[in-house]
Amino acid sequence: MTARQTRKRCQAFVNTLELPRPFSVDALVCELSARRGRPIRIHTVPISAATNACGLWVSTDVSDDIYVEKKTTQFHQEHIILHEIGHILWNHSITDQETHSALSTLFPNLSPDMVGRLLARTNYTTEQEQEAELMASLIHATAKKLVRPLSTGVCGEIEAALGIRR
Ligand SMILES: [Zn+2]
Repeated sequence: MTARQTRKRCQAFVNTLELPRPFSVDALVCELSARRGRPIRIHTVPISAATNACGLWVSTDVSDDIYVEKKTTQFHQEHIILHEIGHILWNHSITDQETHSALSTLFPNLSPDMVGRLLARTNYTTEQEQEAELMASLIHATAKKLVRPLSTGVCGEIEAALGIRR
């Protein structure tokens, strides 16, 4: 799949999301949790000490947990969360040894068995990474358009009156 096709696919996906207005990452997390019937929980932890990543998605039987690097800006944290949400939405799944050892470091009290059962994802294919990264940027860009004030042009007014203005 070309980069252009991937982008198109991701934008189409983002367009179906009906992002909350006013947009916030918290509101999106809340909305997606409700829609999926599975809570998405955000944890801020010093994660890069345990993995090379700034973010980590752990899928358990009952929830999707996103671990975000604590020692970074809020803007970066939100980007990481959106990136991990990208992985969740595309249902990317890969587990491997490295992930297991990262999890054991993060959650030393978990039994190796439990760690094995957790579907954590830090090593994705390049394409999956691109998709997640695109989802993060596109959600951000689309959300920005939502809060942009309506133009005062005639077109804007007509669109607004017809309720077709996005
Ligand atoms: Zn990723």
